[in-house]
Amino acid sequence: MNEAAPPSLGLTTREANTRLKVHGPNTLKGLRSVKWHEILLRQFASTLILILLFAAIVAGILGEFVDAIAIAAIVILNGALGFVQEWRAENTLQALRSLLAETALVFRDGREQKIDVKDVVPGDLVIVEAGDRVPADIVLSQALALRVDEAVLTGESEPVAKVSGQADEDQDKELFMGTSVVHGRGTGLVRATGMQTEFGRIAALTGSVHSEPTSLQRKLGELGRQLGLLAFGLCLLVVVTGVLTGKDLAVLVLTGLSLAVAVVPEGLPAVVTVTLALGATAMTKRRALARRLQAIETLGAASVICTDKTGTLTENKMTVSALWCGGTRVDVTGVGYDPIGVFEVEGAEVDPRTLPSLREALNCGFVCSHAHLEEQNGAWQAIGEPTELALVVAALKAFPSQEMARNLVGEFPFSSERKMMSVIVTVPEGFKVCAKGAPEAILPLCTRMMMGSGAVAMTSSQRSEIQSTYEAFADNGNRVLALAIKTVSGADVPQDEAEADLIFLGLAAIIDPPRTEVPKAVASARRAGIDIVMITGDAPRTAAAIGNSIGLEDVKPIMGEALDAMSSAELTDLLKQGRLFARTTPEHKLRIVECLQDQDAIVAMTGDGVNDAPALRKADIGIAMGIRGTDVSKDVADLVLLDDNFATIVAAIEEGRRQYTNIKKFVRYLLTSNAGEVVAIIGSLIIGGPLIFLPIHILWMNLITDGPTALTLGLEKGESDIMKRPPRHMSDSIIGRDGLFIILIFALYTGTATLFAFYSHLEHGVLYAQTVAFTTMILLEKFSVFAFRSFSEPVYRIGFFSNPLLLLAVTATVALQCAAVYWPPLQAVLSTTGLAWDTWILIIWLVTPVVVVPEILKFVREMLGKREDQKAS
Ligand code: ATP
Repeated sequence: MNEAAPPSLGLTTREANTRLKVHGPNTLKGLRSVKWHEILLRQFASTLILILLFAAIVAGILGEFVDAIAIAAIVILNGALGFVQEWRAENTLQALRSLLAETALVFRDGREQKIDVKDVVPGDLVIVEAGDRVPADIVLSQALALRVDEAVLTGESEPVAKVSGQADEDQDKELFMGTSVVHGRGTGLVRATGMQTEFGRIAALTGSVHSEPTSLQRKLGELGRQLGLLAFGLCLLVVVTGVLTGKDLAVLVLTGLSLAVAVVPEGLPAVVTVTLALGATAMTKRRALARRLQAIETLGAASVICTDKTGTLTENKMTVSALWCGGTRVDVTGVGYDPIGVFEVEGAEVDPRTLPSLREALNCGFVCSHAHLEEQNGAWQAIGEPTELALVVAALKAFPSQEMARNLVGEFPFSSERKMMSVIVTVPEGFKVCAKGAPEAILPLCTRMMMGSGAVAMTSSQRSEIQSTYEAFADNGNRVLALAIKTVSGADVPQDEAEADLIFLGLAAIIDPPRTEVPKAVASARRAGIDIVMITGDAPRTAAAIGNSIGLEDVKPIMGEALDAMSSAELTDLLKQGRLFARTTPEHKLRIVECLQDQDAIVAMTGDGVNDAPALRKADIGIAMGIRGTDVSKDVADLVLLDDNFATIVAAIEEGRRQYTNIKKFVRYLLTSNAGEVVAIIGSLIIGGPLIFLPIHILWMNLITDGPTALTLGLEKGESDIMKRPPRHMSDSIIGRDGLFIILIFALYTGTATLFAFYSHLEHGVLYAQTVAFTTMILLEKFSVFAFRSFSEPVYRIGFFSNPLLLLAVTATVALQCAAVYWPPLQAVLSTTGLAWDTWILIIWLVTPVVVVPEILKFVREMLGKREDQKAS
């Protein structure tokens, strides 16, 4: 096969490997987004840590040296724990980033190959086309309508036209690494790679996974600050009232500080970060890569999915199943990209060479595409765009590859707006235009039609026959392409001349079956209250047929053109009825997103092309395709589907809902624990007894034991009805009214129970009573975690052992508490003393209700619910 005369056939793999050793990989170094010392510093830069350090100093001044050292040790331990967790989270995200390794199309060993961008070397012959990010600095040898967005380098958003050969400015024939091709196609030699490129010099990386704080993290930060203020106020109140009533200042300061520490949920930011990072990993296992942590949170609230058809709902494995040429329908056998199949007319095999219009149509489809098919070790390797591959395969079913030639001298490229393309090629008689595209685009340009006898003027009855054949093909779910040719005088005829007065050759019906898993995913999304909107560039009948086969109800497709004439109010109305848009352009996607967002929908929008970027950016969750998506679309997306599959979006939403529910569980859990401590401290102040907890106890509870337990709550499996609930509103508070109620009830119980344990043991001395209160509170907190696993499903349904790490965390904390009470070195640090067995029995009595009562309530509620259901049915 002769591709458009490349200046050479590129490097050999051997030569490329040698050059790779000399020049190194084509990567940009030193651009890791967060440095380890930044993470470490961050651990000690919070207000809370400053409060604690202040507490340590106060304790030191007051002569409580053990306390001072213990507080300092806990601060350091907490910082180290936070550092390890965040460092691991950061590494996880880095590893996910590398999953998005980019590829480049190069000529090596005389043929086109897709290679990893990092393996590109100087001297490589590279091909770029619309949507690609330029993989290195390249000097162009061929440019066809090439336009490049160089904003990353120059800040100039207007695309720059690029040419080959004798350009006035050197820059006009050079492509720079990191810039994006927005139109056309080009071939050229790599001049520089990696840090030697212009981009490498500037070293500004695009396309990394962003880790700016999510809205949830920001809201929690805000909550933390408010609680910090509250803590400060309480602290001041205690000290002032204490001084006024003549209490010991040292005790007062310590109590105030304990309160401050008890109010602020220290572990929260770290737990949220780690959970989101773990969530990103879990999502990747389901084939969705979250490029921004925010995506995980937003996905859980998605209420509409706007999806492409081709490749997302369908397999994107296209096969020409029939052609209609010269008034005859010709069926083509065989599926996939193996060029093995025959041509049949009414069930009888025919030789395509004997039908001139068929022969011309197959040749036109072949010539007017960039796809390649090669046999390697007995297997067929397909490179290129599936629609074009289908046409190439059909042609190769008819003619051996040696007979096929593409002597390309000019091209008017495809765009989603034009829905067609054409090329100019040299043929023995001179120059020929070959065009292909949507029948709506090609037919108006045709004045003649190829029949057995040659080109004849097209009659209106022939036009309507073509139209009805087109509709019949499309009704069966086929993508239909029209093919046309004409001869021209030279290689440089303008587009409007080349694409006028064409000879219609025929229609190709291309089948692209829906993915098998899609109907199930559509049903699941529907159950979860999520609307599905199909937005496709394909024909309305094709879209409707595919829509029907995947379970989108029988709706009338809305044409992209109709959208242009519509006001926003009309579109809003329409969106309530119709959910299937055909023959759209990327701008329509943007309008649909905006309109849905005006109705307060949280929109997930898929896209793959370079022009989809604005819609992806505007959507609440922009979703790019990992396999067929352009680099530009991946750059702006929040989520990348590693398998391009619609079902993966639904899986990601399920994962997003699980993550969010789990975050909600542990936020409530941590706040409950802290609120319980506050109730105990304030209760004790009101009663007027000695200090119920030492500051070191509170630090131990909050910094050492709460975090790990909360973290394991983040690992809870999804509740069984997670995809049966409607989507949550983005503005819903993470705590909410019911959350506040739960926090209050638990805090009142745990606080009062601890007070009871404390005062009933005061006769054994303050040290003993404080140890009892400390241990009771820890056990109450640890065991209440079981209730927080789910407030709707009883334990026998979520499974007692379904979260083994949670059981491990609880067991480990209980063991640690035993060490805190009985092991002399810890006794010394924590000011504790051994407890008698009858004290343990009392503690167990006090702890039992936090486990048993919620389970009884959930059981009763479930029973009542069942009875309601029975009554209703
Ligand atoms: P979706 O938006 O669901 O991905 P799509 O891939 O069909 O659908 P476009 O790529 O915008 O959307 O294509 C629109 C139309 O353009 C197609 O229906 C087809 O008729 C025509 N078309 C697609 N690819 C080519 C091509 N390579 N050459 C010529 N025409 C094409």
